[in-house]
Amino acid sequence: MAQFSPAFLDEVLARTDLAEVIGRHVELKRSGSNLMGLCPFHHEKSPSFSVSPDKQLYYCFGCGKGGGAFQFLMEHDGYAFPEAVEYLAEKAGIEIPRQAASDPGETERRKRAFELLSKVADVFVRQLAGEKGKVAREYLEYRKLPEAIIRDYKLGYAPAGYGFMEHCFGSDSRISAQLESIGLLFKGDRGYVDRFRDRLIFPIRDRRGKTVGFGGRILGDEKSAKYLNSPETPFFHKSDLLYGLAEHREEIRKRKLLLVVEGYMDVLALAAHGLPIGLAPLGTAIGERQILEILRLHDGPVFCFDGDRAGRQAAWRAL
Ligand SMILES: [Zn+2]
Repeated sequence: MAQFSPAFLDEVLARTDLAEVIGRHVELKRSGSNLMGLCPFHHEKSPSFSVSPDKQLYYCFGCGKGGGAFQFLMEHDGYAFPEAVEYLAEKAGIEIPRQAASDPGETERRKRAFELLSKVADVFVRQLAGEKGKVAREYLEYRKLPEAIIRDYKLGYAPAGYGFMEHCFGSDSRISAQLESIGLLFKGDRGYVDRFRDRLIFPIRDRRGKTVGFGGRILGDEKSAKYLNSPETPFFHKSDLLYGLAEHREEIRKRKLLLVVEGYMDVLALAAHGLPIGLAPLGTAIGERQILEILRLHDGPVFCFDGDRAGRQAAWRAL
């Protein structure tokens, strides 16, 4: 885990406006030297949540939650401490000191991996729009998914056959190794193989909105698994992620509604019908960490699984 020097943390805080960080989630009104709003941590009708711009601290007189900017991101958005620090440093345009990380190469490697994941997401998007993407577009039409949803959630297509990654990114062994490390290639008997072939692609983002992996739905060959996800990588931990979290967090808070559904298509179908409040686990049974994430967002989530046997089992398990 990254170690940050006190001087660096001070600088990040000095260049952060707490009222702005909180103001994106809570409507704040001036009251004397403080700002007041409805507490995002408990339900209330009259504001008891105060933010002091002078002290750069928040405090709720109702539930007693309080702290500074790092604390707010951790409690409210579920960031880990280093994530909160990195997020605010990035926002303030402060370079994260290289020696701050226990492994100096680690920060750089992560950055490159995220860049590559984002590039891969883009090439899948272009494939969906292209000639080869026809079969995927037909499927989306059949599922009546509107263009706006396809665009906003950056759905894509991984073409059938082999060698697509090589075609896009070249055969340089370092690039191939990188693509392997983020789960897009795996080693077969005769070299690298594309993991996603002839699949509709759902990019999966972490809570900060960075693409960390992909889910793929089979289109042609019904013998293969219907859904395939990226394997576990340093960035992609299935049991930590929820599809739709980055996209829907704000709406869930605003509407005070949260629906947990089974799959990617359920999340998108809800959004297409004006309900961008769905979250789904990534093809696996919902686990403890995901439940905690859900309960941090909303204390009365509704679990809405399929009416079949598997769905009923999943619902009981979640309960
Ligand atoms: Zn409160």
